[in-house]
Amino acid sequence: MQITKTISETREALATSGSHKKIGFVPTMGALHKGHLSLVEKCHLESDFTVVSIYLNPAQFGPQEDLNRYPRNLERDIDLLRSYDADLIFTPDDVQMYPEGYCTWVKVEGLSDILCGASRPGHFRGVATIVLKLIHIINPNLMFMGMKDYQQIIVLEKMIQDLNLETKIVRCPIIRESDGLAISSRNAYLGPEERQRATCLINALKTAQKMVNDGCLDSKILISEAENIIRESDGKIDYIKIVDSSTLQELAEVKSNAKMLLAVYIGNTRLIDNIELLS
Ligand code: AMP
Repeated sequence: MQITKTISETREALATSGSHKKIGFVPTMGALHKGHLSLVEKCHLESDFTVVSIYLNPAQFGPQEDLNRYPRNLERDIDLLRSYDADLIFTPDDVQMYPEGYCTWVKVEGLSDILCGASRPGHFRGVATIVLKLIHIINPNLMFMGMKDYQQIIVLEKMIQDLNLETKIVRCPIIRESDGLAISSRNAYLGPEERQRATCLINALKTAQKMVNDGCLDSKILISEAENIIRESDGKIDYIKIVDSSTLQELAEVKSNAKMLLAVYIGNTRLIDNIELLS
């Protein structure tokens, strides 16, 4: 396994070892957990050369957000990736990715301003920019991304389509704790009592899904029930929406391809999750 810190080292490593191979890529911000590792595992199975990037991208955090306290543990991440047979780890620093005078940004209009983008202005601009830069450096055939960050996948698929990139996103399932909480680096912020309350996200989503299975298709009723479940656990709702899973446009009535997406604060920790309501 090779570890590179600069763009030129990374390009060289790929030209030497990765040429003529199907390159799979897993972008991460580090503090790796079972969710990330499931992507690495799938990448390893579906490609010939597995590249993982570890870069805590400041451009996708707002000024009041948790960049400074975001968990970091590079040594542990590297050990984990070694045991998962990654071929190349790219761990650039900010000077590599945003040298002084940096001023070029990618904005996927519309899709970046709704849902998580409405409460995190600039977030998807930061995500799209860093992922485009990483795609240019690594030139992967496949990029493995988790459906926990569902809007991120839709924004990046649109960027890939609009900019005629040849990388294909492989959507990977959400990995959950045994009580259903979606695994996230931010779960580490939760105190024990908050951790218990955090199961309200999956409970709200599962309840809505069951109501749909029982024949209720009215988004207002489904969202209102989900809101009740979150509020019973003292969660503060950022948004709960039912959307078309291709366009992210809101649906008044559930139809095939509908998803419920939500973002909820448990204490000061903002958590997101989503579920398919009707396939
Ligand atoms: P992050 O380090 O938070 O930027 O996440 C890197 C990648 O891991 C993204 O594609 C996420 O969607 C994915 N990911 C994070 N948590 C999970 C999870 N619980 N299950 C599946 N994928 C995940």
